[in-house]
Order: sequence, then structure tokens, then C-alpha cells
Amino acid sequence: MSKKIKKIGVLTSGGDAPGMNAAIRGVVRTAISNDVDVYGIHWGYQGLMEGKIEQMNARDVSGFGSLGGTKLGSARSPEFKTEEGIKKAIEYLKAFEIEGLVVIGGDGSLRGAMDLHNRGIKVVGIPASIDNDIAHTDFSIGSDTALNTILDALDKIRDTASAHYRGFVLEVMGNKNGYLALTSGTAGGAELIIVPSTKIDKDKIIHQIKSAFLRKKSSFIAVCAEGASTPEQNISDLIVSYIKEAGFECRKTVLGHVQRGGKPTGRDRILGNAFGHAAVIQLIKGNSGIMVGDVGNNIECTPIPKVCEDTKNIKLPKEVLDVIDDLMI
Ligand code: ADP
Repeated sequence: MSKKIKKIGVLTSGGDAPGMNAAIRGVVRTAISNDVDVYGIHWGYQGLMEGKIEQMNARDVSGFGSLGGTKLGSARSPEFKTEEGIKKAIEYLKAFEIEGLVVIGGDGSLRGAMDLHNRGIKVVGIPASIDNDIAHTDFSIGSDTALNTILDALDKIRDTASAHYRGFVLEVMGNKNGYLALTSGTAGGAELIIVPSTKIDKDKIIHQIKSAFLRKKSSFIAVCAEGASTPEQNISDLIVSYIKEAGFECRKTVLGHVQRGGKPTGRDRILGNAFGHAAVIQLIKGNSGIMVGDVGNNIECTPIPKVCEDTKNIKLPKEVLDVIDDLMI
């Protein structure tokens, strides 16, 4: 049995996601409840290389559950990927006698965590990404809040679109897996959903648009994943041109960074706290190089290299996937 860990650190890295603060809360309180000192590292790996580290107590995270963004700050740090950069990071961890680290972030941040693991630092990752594109977890922190933010926008766009018999294209984030487009389009009743894997059939889409208005629909909303665009072709602009070609007015809304912000939903808060708790327990058990995930409503741990290697499959109930076309009539 290895010696019990005495000091751990926690950082948030890469793209911020609502619910990161709940995860910090879970980490800090679980550590303290288990007599482990816990240090907050500000501004991700960048802050770690600069020694922006301070001890946290239970009251420091009071009220964190309901806060969007990340109170520790996040950063993208190209320097951390260099030999010099990682050496600096490890020097600071040693100087503070921090033996284990919880990294809250997306797949880039998890790769960074693995580099630390390979150099003898104990690390456990927590998946946080509004895109829900991390394998071996059904949900990553932030994806449920982003979905609800999009739905709020989509409902509002439906009001104005219906008032004018217009087409609307709503471009949403989601990286290359299209989770946010598929779920928001389904839940929001979009007439067309384009994800990165969608095969674009111009004639079929134009027919769909015309027939929707012929069936007395007062609006046509297409939700497009920004990840479906290529350097050559912006997918939202393409769908706008199809709607116009079909003979209808059309507007485009790119939701952008509003999708990253806001109060985390109940699901993201629960996930954050649960992941935070599980990550610390894994460090106490002496485990490292793993990510905690929610698999079928259970917390499961997966080696980080496997997480980075595997592709995330979008999980919607099969029943829903089977009937999406029926629902769009
Ligand atoms: P996310 O974690 O949201 O995917 P990034 O991909 O920007 O965001 O990664 C966040 C940070 O993690 C990067 O700025 C870098 O410091 C570190 N990182 C990313 N990829 C790697 C990698 N392959 N090896 C080591 N560190 C990495």
C-alpha cells in the first residue's frame, strides 16, 4: 500500500465550460474531508509554470456550484507542450510538495495531464467540454448547460422566424462530433439538422424546405454544427443559399461564445461535484493517468491514452434517433 497522498493541486485548462466550478468545489471539499491539503492553480498549465498556486479551504469554494466559467481561470499554453515548459511546471509542483493533480479540461488538457503522469506526477483528469466530444464518458461537464443555452436561443429565433415566414440557420458549436447540433435540433424541433457526418444532398434539402412551407409551416429552422464546415465551404452559408434558392427569406445566427457561459444546469453541477469527488478518491487510492467519467450513470475510470485515442459516439436514445425524421414533418 503506497503512502497516503498529503497535498494535491487542481487546475482548469483549455476551453472553459459551465460546471467547472462545481468540479473545483468537489475536489476541494473532498480533499479537505479526507485530510488532504489542496492547492488551486490559477490559469491552467500556464499558471502552473508561473507558480500561480495557493492553498484553498472549504469556504473558498462556497457558492461555486452555481457559477459559470471557472474561478481558477483557464488558459491555452503552447509553452507547456515544450520540454522547458513542462520542466518549469514540475519544478513548481515539487517546490509546493504537490504530489497529485486534478486536471479539469478537454482532450488537449488530458494529453497535458498524461505528460505529467509520464514524468512521475500523479494525475487524474475530469472531462469538461461543452462539445461533449470526450470518449469514455456519456457526458462531459458543460455540455448540458450549452444545450440548454442553445435551446433558449432556438425558441426565441422560432418566434421571430414564424412571425415572418422565414428560414433561419442557427450555427452552433460542438467541434467535430455534432452533439450540440443533434441534441438542440431534436429538442428544439428544427426542420433540418446538419452535423459533421451529414451527407449534403442539395436537391433533397431544397425539396424539404419547399415542402415544409407547403405543409403550412410558418418557419424553417436549420441547426448547423460549425464543425460541419470545411476551409472551402461554410456550411451555414450553404444552407442559407439553399433556403433562398427554394424561394424563402433567410437569416443566419452564429451563437458563438454565449454557448460557453451561464449558470450551470443541475446536471452539470451534479456531474462537476461527483467527478471532483471521484478524482480525489482516485488520487488517495494511489491511481494516476486516468480520467473519471459517467458511463451509464456510474463513475468509471479509463486510462487517459485510451480516452484520447477513442472517438466519442453521440448518445441519444436509439428511439429518438430512429424517429427524428418523423418528428420533422
Ligand atoms: P482543451 O483541453 O479544451 O481540449 P486545448 O486543446 O487548448 O483545450 O488544451 C489545453 C492546454 O493543454 C494547451 O494549451 C496545452 O497547454 C495543453 N495541451 C494540449 N495538447 C497537448 C499535448 N498534446 N501535449 C501536452 N499538452 C497539451
